[in-house]
Amino acid sequence: MKTWIPPERFLPYLTWKQVEALPKDRTLLILPTAAIEQHGHHLPLATDTLINNFILGHALAKLPADFPAYALAPVCYGKSNEHLGFPGTLSTSRDTFMATLRDLAASVRAAGFQRLVFFNSHGGNHSLLDVMARDLRAEFGLKMFCLYGGGPASGVNPQEAAYGFHAGEVETALLLAATPELVHRDKYTVNYIAQVGAPGTLKPEFAYATYAWLTRDIAPSGVMGDPNPATAENGWKWCDEMATRAAAALVEMAAFNHPVTS
Ligand SMILES: [Zn+2]
Repeated sequence: MKTWIPPERFLPYLTWKQVEALPKDRTLLILPTAAIEQHGHHLPLATDTLINNFILGHALAKLPADFPAYALAPVCYGKSNEHLGFPGTLSTSRDTFMATLRDLAASVRAAGFQRLVFFNSHGGNHSLLDVMARDLRAEFGLKMFCLYGGGPASGVNPQEAAYGFHAGEVETALLLAATPELVHRDKYTVNYIAQVGAPGTLKPEFAYATYAWLTRDIAPSGVMGDPNPATAENGWKWCDEMATRAAAALVEMAAFNHPVTS
């Protein structure tokens, strides 16, 4: 798959002797977690995986050359059962996803590393990563960190910012920048699963009272949002914003110590 990770920051390109020589107490290992799942009629199944790599690669490129941070090979398959029923979605179960993370973290700890970052770009993985990060802190004493996507994209209207979270403007713009050849611009569909400011407390996401949903319950085309305003120019701008934010967070993570225990 296409990659933007600087080769000198990709751990699988090192030898074991080079890994052995890394400063274990401060080196950050970054595990990308993503998905292979439907993204409407216009974006590829690998959208989350490509966006993850696009942002992380640019973030790593912003770090000083002597900053100790390495990307691991990604966990491309995530918990995507909300998108089952759309051909091409390849989901792991909750247990498989968690077991994979735990096994990789055990290897990281056995090699002597102390700091592990989950860099996630698929919403369906989010709650599992919170749970696993705490479990790994408890089981292995690892310093665990989570980065969830790139954070907000500037200048997006409130409706799209709230409910344009799947194949909407931001994801489409990022792919128009990263892999324009994979964006089918004549196949855009629009679907909002809720309206900002609508009456009632019960919402599908981001509310005090929520209901569980599958994509087929709420989004027939698979899109949640409006891709029409997306531009490659904004995709590049947002990639840079997100990469800058992620790089700053990585700098904090490399120096972080818990207030009481180390
Ligand atoms: Zn996505």
